Amino acid sequence: MAYLTLKNINKIYPNGFHAVHDFNLEAERGEFIVFVGPSGCGKSTTLRMIAGLEDISKGEFLIDGQLANQWGPREREIAMVFQSYALYPNMTVYDNLAFGLNLQGVDEDIIEERVQKTAKILGLTDYLDRMPRALSGGQRQRVAVGRSIIRKVGIFLMDEPLSNLDAKQRVTMRSEITQIHRETGATTIYVTHDQTEAMTMADRIVVMKNGYIQQIGTPKEVYFNPVNVFVAGFIGEPPMNFIRRTVKNGCITIGKGTFDLSAKLGKDTAKYEGKEIVFGFRPEGVVLGKQENSYVTGGMVELTEMLGDNANVYIDIDGSKSILKVTPFEIPKMDTEVTFSIPVENAYLFDGETEMVI
Ligand code: ATP
Repeated sequence: MAYLTLKNINKIYPNGFHAVHDFNLEAERGEFIVFVGPSGCGKSTTLRMIAGLEDISKGEFLIDGQLANQWGPREREIAMVFQSYALYPNMTVYDNLAFGLNLQGVDEDIIEERVQKTAKILGLTDYLDRMPRALSGGQRQRVAVGRSIIRKVGIFLMDEPLSNLDAKQRVTMRSEITQIHRETGATTIYVTHDQTEAMTMADRIVVMKNGYIQQIGTPKEVYFNPVNVFVAGFIGEPPMNFIRRTVKNGCITIGKGTFDLSAKLGKDTAKYEGKEIVFGFRPEGVVLGKQENSYVTGGMVELTEMLGDNANVYIDIDGSKSILKVTPFEIPKMDTEVTFSIPVENAYLFDGETEMVI
């Protein structure tokens, strides 16, 4: 049985705004689930309903098979880390970590042992006597995480915990949180609008838009098998390129290339005749030059960006803008025409109307 079950969960705020629609998810014990989506899509609202900080308007929330809709945050045995780390400024790191346990009346010896263990996991042993103001942003966030994990809870909820950190600290904390998760084994739900965090940390990703789940899957599933244009465009950096074309004689024309859709769809092309489809390919899914079993086309190079291990090439194909990712040794000259191939397996087709994958 799943540890956390969300069955047709809805949130309608008192002003009538329907923020979350029929949210369904089963999380196994110990799983690391990431909710990802643009601002306002309902991630925090859903997390707050799981935490017991927000009423569930409709639907059922179960913890270990027991209906928990009416349980308070404490009964749910949940720890939560927010974006702002809100440490007690007049307490040392040690006292900040020990605070919750002190409140619960836990024995001094046990508190000492747990503080030391938590500090060790988080690399805070040398900072236990410091005040929060004498810590970097990353160290403060570690204390905030420490304050939550010290309580040994079954469910760990995090709402954009890295958004106040700089880019370098975010990368470090990302792997630290993954490591902590491995050590504590708590079922974790992590909210972010950053697809890189989702891809690098999650066992499974829940992609949301406008209060609706778009897709639930492992990072590989949402990256390689996106169900619609939104997921395909949201996951991956730079995002997938999309070109809209009308199907004529089972083919679409992109630049100099005529793409026979039967290579991808077999005999299924007839029903798309005369209809618009969205052709998608990832920047990293191309090969420069002509290649077999591929859709071959070309475009004018408008800009190149050397990134070190790879380079982005911005091209224009008959007015459609696309990005190609190439090695630093393949960067074409600006204002020249570049020919490239999209292996058939790297091409995605979406229905122009529903935007669902074909
Ligand atoms: P962000 O990444 O910006 O935090 P989010 O995906 O977490 O976004 P939520 O905070 O869950 O989004 O908000 C979802 C929607 O519900 C938004 O449109 C928001 O304006 C709305 N909303 C949030 N709180 C309330 C409230 N108390 N009353 C009415 N509407 C609300």
